[in-house]
Amino acid sequence: MQTNPSNNRTQQAPNHEPFENERNQQSRVRRKSPSPRATPMTNSLDTYAEEIQTFVDERDWEQYHNPKDLAIGLATEASELLELFRFLDEHDITERLKDPNYRQRIHDEVGDTLFFLVRFAQRLDINLLQAGQEKLQKSREKYPADEYRGDNWKVLDP
Ligand SMILES: [Mg+2]
Repeated sequence: MQTNPSNNRTQQAPNHEPFENERNQQSRVRRKSPSPRATPMTNSLDTYAEEIQTFVDERDWEQYHNPKDLAIGLATEASELLELFRFLDEHDITERLKDPNYRQRIHDEVGDTLFFLVRFAQRLDINLLQAGQEKLQKSREKYPADEYRGDNWKVLDP
Protein backbone atom coordinates (compact mmCIF):
# COMPACT_ATOMS: atom_id res chain seq x y z
CA MET A 1 0.00 0.00 0.00
CA GLN A 2 1.03 3.58 -0.34
CA THR A 3 2.14 5.15 2.83
CA ASN A 4 1.55 8.37 4.63
CA PRO A 5 4.67 10.48 4.22
CA SER A 6 4.27 11.75 7.75
CA ASN A 7 4.92 8.24 9.01
CA ASN A 8 8.56 7.76 9.80
CA ARG A 9 9.05 4.39 8.17
CA THR A 10 12.81 4.55 8.63
CA GLN A 11 12.50 4.56 12.37
CA GLN A 12 13.82 1.29 13.68
CA ALA A 13 11.42 -1.08 15.37
CA PRO A 14 11.72 -1.28 19.14
CA ASN A 15 14.21 -3.85 20.25
CA HIS A 16 12.15 -6.12 22.46
CA GLU A 17 13.57 -9.38 23.52
CA PRO A 18 11.86 -12.10 21.55
CA PHE A 19 9.07 -13.90 23.28
CA GLU A 20 10.30 -17.08 24.78
CA ASN A 21 7.77 -19.85 25.00
CA GLU A 22 8.14 -23.36 26.17
CA ARG A 23 5.95 -26.36 25.87
CA ASN A 24 5.04 -28.45 28.85
CA GLN A 25 4.46 -32.15 28.77
CA GLN A 26 1.00 -31.69 27.33
CA SER A 27 2.46 -29.48 24.55
CA ARG A 28 0.64 -26.55 26.04
CA VAL A 29 2.21 -23.21 25.28
CA ARG A 30 3.25 -21.32 28.37
CA ARG A 31 5.24 -18.14 28.67
CA LYS A 32 8.33 -18.31 30.87
CA SER A 33 7.96 -14.77 32.04
CA PRO A 34 5.48 -11.94 31.64
CA SER A 35 5.35 -10.30 28.23
CA PRO A 36 7.70 -7.39 27.73
CA ARG A 37 5.83 -4.14 27.87
CA ALA A 38 5.23 -2.59 24.49
CA THR A 39 6.76 0.71 23.54
CA PRO A 40 4.35 3.42 24.71
CA MET A 41 2.08 4.73 21.97
CA THR A 42 2.60 8.40 22.54
CA ASN A 43 0.52 9.66 19.63
CA SER A 44 -3.22 9.33 20.04
CA LEU A 45 -5.38 7.20 17.84
CA ASP A 46 -7.45 10.28 17.07
CA THR A 47 -4.42 12.10 15.70
CA TYR A 48 -3.46 9.12 13.57
CA ALA A 49 -7.06 8.78 12.31
CA GLU A 50 -6.99 12.44 11.29
CA GLU A 51 -3.73 11.87 9.41
CA ILE A 52 -5.31 8.96 7.58
CA GLN A 53 -8.39 10.99 6.66
CA THR A 54 -6.16 13.73 5.28
CA PHE A 55 -4.11 11.18 3.35
CA VAL A 56 -7.28 9.74 1.81
CA ASP A 57 -8.84 13.14 1.07
CA GLU A 58 -5.71 14.42 -0.63
CA ARG A 59 -5.85 11.48 -3.05
CA ASP A 60 -9.62 11.34 -3.45
CA TRP A 61 -9.58 7.69 -2.41
CA GLU A 62 -12.73 7.86 -0.32
CA GLN A 63 -14.60 6.50 -3.35
CA TYR A 64 -12.66 3.23 -3.12
CA HIS A 65 -13.01 2.74 0.61
CA ASN A 66 -16.23 0.79 0.97
CA PRO A 67 -16.50 -1.59 3.94
CA LYS A 68 -15.90 -4.72 1.83
CA ASP A 69 -12.70 -3.48 0.25
CA LEU A 70 -11.43 -2.08 3.53
CA ALA A 71 -12.09 -5.43 5.20
CA ILE A 72 -10.20 -7.12 2.35
CA GLY A 73 -7.37 -4.64 2.83
CA LEU A 74 -7.30 -5.39 6.54
CA ALA A 75 -7.20 -9.15 6.00
CA THR A 76 -4.63 -8.84 3.22
CA GLU A 77 -2.25 -6.75 5.29
CA ALA A 78 -2.68 -9.05 8.28
CA SER A 79 -1.84 -11.93 5.95
CA GLU A 80 1.30 -10.15 4.82
CA LEU A 81 2.29 -9.99 8.47
CA LEU A 82 1.55 -13.70 8.84
CA GLU A 83 3.60 -14.46 5.74
CA LEU A 84 6.73 -13.25 7.54
CA PHE A 85 6.41 -16.25 9.86
CA ARG A 86 5.67 -18.88 7.22
CA PHE A 87 7.73 -22.08 7.53
CA LEU A 88 9.57 -20.75 10.57
CA ASP A 89 9.64 -22.55 13.86
CA GLU A 90 10.06 -20.77 17.16
CA HIS A 91 13.86 -20.98 17.03
CA ASP A 92 13.92 -19.55 13.49
CA ILE A 93 11.68 -16.67 14.55
CA THR A 94 13.87 -15.89 17.55
CA GLU A 95 16.91 -15.73 15.24
CA ARG A 96 15.13 -13.67 12.59
CA LEU A 97 13.99 -11.16 15.18
CA LYS A 98 17.63 -10.25 15.72
CA ASP A 99 17.71 -8.87 12.17
CA PRO A 100 16.67 -5.18 12.05
CA ASN A 101 15.50 -5.59 8.44
CA TYR A 102 13.18 -8.42 9.40
CA ARG A 103 11.86 -6.42 12.32
CA GLN A 104 11.30 -3.49 9.99
CA ARG A 105 9.24 -5.67 7.66
CA ILE A 106 7.08 -6.67 10.63
CA HIS A 107 6.87 -3.04 11.65
CA ASP A 108 5.67 -2.07 8.18
CA GLU A 109 3.00 -4.77 8.01
CA VAL A 110 1.71 -3.81 11.45
CA GLY A 111 1.46 -0.26 10.16
CA ASP A 112 -0.38 -1.37 7.03
CA THR A 113 -2.80 -3.45 9.09
CA LEU A 114 -3.47 -0.58 11.47
CA PHE A 115 -4.15 1.72 8.53
CA PHE A 116 -6.95 -0.48 7.26
CA LEU A 117 -8.32 -1.17 10.73
CA VAL A 118 -8.55 2.54 11.50
CA ARG A 119 -9.93 3.29 8.06
CA PHE A 120 -12.56 0.57 8.40
CA ALA A 121 -13.57 1.97 11.78
CA GLN A 122 -13.81 5.45 10.30
CA ARG A 123 -16.12 4.34 7.53
CA LEU A 124 -18.41 2.41 9.87
CA ASP A 125 -18.27 5.03 12.62
CA ILE A 126 -16.79 2.60 15.11
CA ASN A 127 -14.90 3.98 18.06
CA LEU A 128 -11.92 1.66 17.93
CA LEU A 129 -10.79 2.18 21.50
CA GLN A 130 -14.32 1.77 22.81
CA ALA A 131 -14.80 -1.40 20.76
CA GLY A 132 -11.53 -2.78 22.08
CA GLN A 133 -12.28 -1.88 25.67
CA GLU A 134 -15.80 -3.30 25.53
CA LYS A 135 -14.56 -6.56 24.06
CA LEU A 136 -11.82 -6.71 26.67
CA GLN A 137 -14.43 -6.38 29.40
CA LYS A 138 -16.42 -9.22 27.86
CA SER A 139 -13.24 -11.32 27.83
CA ARG A 140 -12.58 -10.49 31.49
CA GLU A 141 -16.02 -11.83 32.32
CA LYS A 142 -15.75 -14.83 30.01
CA TYR A 143 -12.27 -15.82 31.21
CA PRO A 144 -11.97 -14.98 34.91
CA ALA A 145 -8.30 -14.64 35.83
CA ASP A 146 -8.54 -16.99 38.81
CA GLU A 147 -9.92 -19.71 36.56
CA TYR A 148 -7.79 -19.21 33.46
CA ARG A 149 -4.44 -18.06 34.84
CA GLY A 150 -1.60 -19.97 33.18
CA ASP A 151 -3.87 -22.10 31.02
CA ASN A 152 -4.83 -20.89 27.59
CA TRP A 153 -6.09 -24.28 26.47
CA LYS A 154 -9.38 -23.80 28.29
CA VAL A 155 -10.02 -20.99 25.81
CA LEU A 156 -9.62 -23.40 22.92
CA ASP A 157 -11.42 -26.29 24.61
CA PRO A 158 -14.02 -24.83 26.99
MG1 LIG B 1 1.73 -4.56 3.47
